[in-house]
Amino acid sequence: MVFQQVNKPFKANHLSIPSLNAGEVLVKTTYTTICTSDLHTYYGRRPGTLPSILGLEAIGEVADLAPEGIYSYDGERLQLGDRITWAVYAHNPQGLAAQRGFPQKSVGLYKYGHELLSENNTLNGGFATHCLLRNGSTIYKVPGELTPPEAALLNCTHATVAGALRLAGSLRDKNLLVSGAGMLGLSACAMARESRVRRIWVSDLNEERLQQAERFGVDDCLVVTSEDYLNQKIDDEVDIVIETTGAPQAIEQCIDTLSIGGVIILVGSVFPQPNISLSAEQLVRKLLTVRGLHNYIPDDLAAAIRFLRKTRNKYPFHSLVEKEFPLSELHQAFEEGNNSKYYRVGVRMPPLNDKFTS
Ligand SMILES: [Zn+2]
Repeated sequence: MVFQQVNKPFKANHLSIPSLNAGEVLVKTTYTTICTSDLHTYYGRRPGTLPSILGLEAIGEVADLAPEGIYSYDGERLQLGDRITWAVYAHNPQGLAAQRGFPQKSVGLYKYGHELLSENNTLNGGFATHCLLRNGSTIYKVPGELTPPEAALLNCTHATVAGALRLAGSLRDKNLLVSGAGMLGLSACAMARESRVRRIWVSDLNEERLQQAERFGVDDCLVVTSEDYLNQKIDDEVDIVIETTGAPQAIEQCIDTLSIGGVIILVGSVFPQPNISLSAEQLVRKLLTVRGLHNYIPDDLAAAIRFLRKTRNKYPFHSLVEKEFPLSELHQAFEEGNNSKYYRVGVRMPPLNDKFTS
């Protein structure tokens, strides 16, 4: 389903399946969830590539493999039919950026769901029956017990949060503020809870979202409005903030709440917003650290899989994919997803032998 124009119905396109080059895997996509960044692109809130196939929170089954054999990132040889998840980008692990520890910033990075669609560059997004995983993709097998809606969230939401917590350092006996109770925020609460954090606050403008947070390991929910100040609602030291909203005012307020030596990790600022205002003197005197995370590294996806496998009965992530559509109704699925009532809308792919029509 091709994204051709901002906020215009997708166009069903029949593409032939290319033959595989070295290092490539053909995936029969089975399930894709509509991520907030897909919505930002589709509705023109950030620049997108046109035409393209959107969708990155996807899972699928191995349908074909390059003949030399392909291994998952943790060294298992892939077989036809294996259920897999893949990092949102393919990169050159020998490149300078990867060697410096930033594979997600490699030269020539190939990002699923973001690439220009052309005759020689097809099947590169989640909202299609197939996805061609390029050489340099990070692939993991999906544990059998995870349902499709749960597993689809691994390679975007949970892996990003795993990356943010990696940057935050040890959470043990620390106090954490999670800014925003969206999908990233809830994942951050639950994953932090599993890291023996002492206390977790979550803040959001939306009271219904905060009620959800109570099921994801949170201690205190803070309703915020644009007029009031977060630090007046918090009666303890804040060691770490995970900021998922990207809203300049929320970021400024979060930095104000940090205690001496505090760390804030910014993950939500992925679309254009006005600049934030920071007191450099406050950063210095309070010994604060501000870090940004964009995408994640392969180990973060592995951590996300371990987390979800261990806790899937404890935190009801499956309940957050609240509505499903078939691929042929992708436009309706986006309309529904853009209505912020839902955490995620899921898209089911037609089975292989189905004649796909739209
Ligand atoms: Zn996502």
